[in-house]
This record gives sequence, structure tokens and C-alpha cells, in this order.
Amino acid sequence: MADRDGKIWMDGQMVDWRDAKIHVLTHTLHYGCGAFEGVRAYNTVNGTAIFRLEEHTDRLFNSAKILRMKLPFTKEEVNEAQKAVVRENKLESCYLRPLTWIGSQKLGVSPKGNQIHLMVAAWAWGAYLGEEGLKRGIRVKTSSYTRHHVNITMTQAKAVSNYSNSILANMEATDDGYDEALLLDAAGFVSEGAGENIFIVKNGVIYTPDLSAGALNGITRNTIFHIAKDLGLEIVQKRITRDEVYIADEAFFTGTAAEVTPIRELDRIEIGSGSRGPITEKIQNAFFDIVNGRNPQYAHWLTKV
Ligand code: PMP
Repeated sequence: MADRDGKIWMDGQMVDWRDAKIHVLTHTLHYGCGAFEGVRAYNTVNGTAIFRLEEHTDRLFNSAKILRMKLPFTKEEVNEAQKAVVRENKLESCYLRPLTWIGSQKLGVSPKGNQIHLMVAAWAWGAYLGEEGLKRGIRVKTSSYTRHHVNITMTQAKAVSNYSNSILANMEATDDGYDEALLLDAAGFVSEGAGENIFIVKNGVIYTPDLSAGALNGITRNTIFHIAKDLGLEIVQKRITRDEVYIADEAFFTGTAAEVTPIRELDRIEIGSGSRGPITEKIQNAFFDIVNGRNPQYAHWLTKV
């Protein structure tokens, strides 16, 4: 991805894509303390707009706070940086990646005395789990890796270090021929996907793990809460067992990258009819209406670039 045209916002400057580089002795590269966001801009009916920009920036600042990193920019500057990156790269719809990391002034576990950096990149990125996956649903495997316990790495931070766990789980699942992994928490209850929150539907009620299962407080997850309310559907946060997923009527993953992706199979056990369920489809349609600017009720969630 490094060798291409375009601009990346780096510590307050627009830098040529190929020149947006860091030193090999960068602290975060060695010890993994950093935080990032995944944000999407959509080509809405009113032009290109970033979906829930402020919530993503808030979460980035919260992640940094949890990791004891003091960002040298204001939220307004970070919001402006994201809008500017989309404009500069002339993107109609895209994925945005803000990342904060600890610099290369000194090594040793303590990061004290190092500079905190921030960059924002953006590029075109289609359906994360495939267009086909959005329509037909994906095949998921329960991971042999446990999701982080809430007191090991901090699970409410979108921390760089948390993703070694996601990478292991995703590689194991995809090496075994599945599309994505489902991770259980340290007590064996359903937590989340490698990069997605999970929902199940049973007898018309929607369930999702509460955040004590170590799942990220997903912004798409929160969007689903609003959609469910609008559709008059009950949504319950609770502990969920893997066999509750097996016998659910429907299941789906949510995430900025994954959007709303139906799950048609877990551990080779078909969920419901083995395809996208009717409630999932309704939620998916409502989601795409909102992000594409077709639902004026949520116009405030779309920031024009
Ligand atoms: N869990 C994990 C581990 C993730 O990486 C993501 C993607 N950011 C999510 C859940 C979903 O979060 P969001 O809807 O805010 O993208």
C-alpha cells in the first residue's frame, strides 16, 4: 500500500503518500502501544460525507486516554484532518484510518519522554467481508483463541495491541476455510468477531453480548440499537453462549468495515435458514439508507467533507 499516489495527513501536514514514513525504532512498533480508528465516508445523496465522525474521534481520544497517551491535537483538528484527507485524495466513498503512535526518541518499555504522533489515511475499500457475504452471509468459526480479558489489555480502547489477538483468530479461521472468527471471552461466553460485534436474533428479539464480554463498544453496534428501536424491535444485551448462536434464527456481524454482514454458519452448523435472515435484511437496508443519506432522521450523523 505504500507505493501509490495520494496524500496522508501526518502530524498536522499533508504528506505525499510515499513519504509518510516512520523510523524502525518507533516505540509502538516494538511494544504495541497505540490506538486507531476505522471510519467510513459514503457517497451519500447529498455528496460525500463521513459517518459518525464525532463518535469515532471521541473513541480515538478515549482509547488514547485509556493508554495514557496525550494526543497533541484537539478533536476539532482531528475531525478537520479526516475531512481534509478525503477531499485531498478526491475520494467519493472510502475507509479512513486515523492512528496514533509513540515516537522514536527512546526505547524501553516506559514510553515516557517520547513524542505522540497522529496520522490519517484514506482509501477506497469495498465490502470488508465481500459483496457476496453481505447478501448470502458468511461462514464463521469459533476461535481457539480467547478474546482479551477486560483487565489484561483494555478492551474499550481500540488499541493496536488488541489486534494481535484478532489477527491470530482471523488467520486460524481463514486458514481453515472460514470467512471470519468468533471469539469467546475468558469465561467462555460469546464476545465478538476479530473485527466485528455480533448480534443474534431469536423469536423476533435481538441479542448482543454486553461489553463485559470484552467486546469493543462498536459505533455500528450503537447504530443497530437506534435502527432496532425505529423498527420496533427489542434489543437485549446479555451473556450469550456459543450454542445460543447455533440455535439462533439469525445472526450478523457489525462494524465500520464489515457494515452489517449476515452469518449463515458457525462451526459448520447452519444458523436458521442458512442465509440472510429477514430481520437482518431489514436492519441491513435501514443501515444502508442511513449511511447513504436516505434517512433524514439521521442526517446529523453525516458530516460533509
Ligand atoms: N470489534 C472489533 C474488535 C473491531 O475491530 C471493530 C471494528 N472497529 C468492531 C468491533 C466494530 O466497531 P465499529 O462498529 O465501531 O467499527
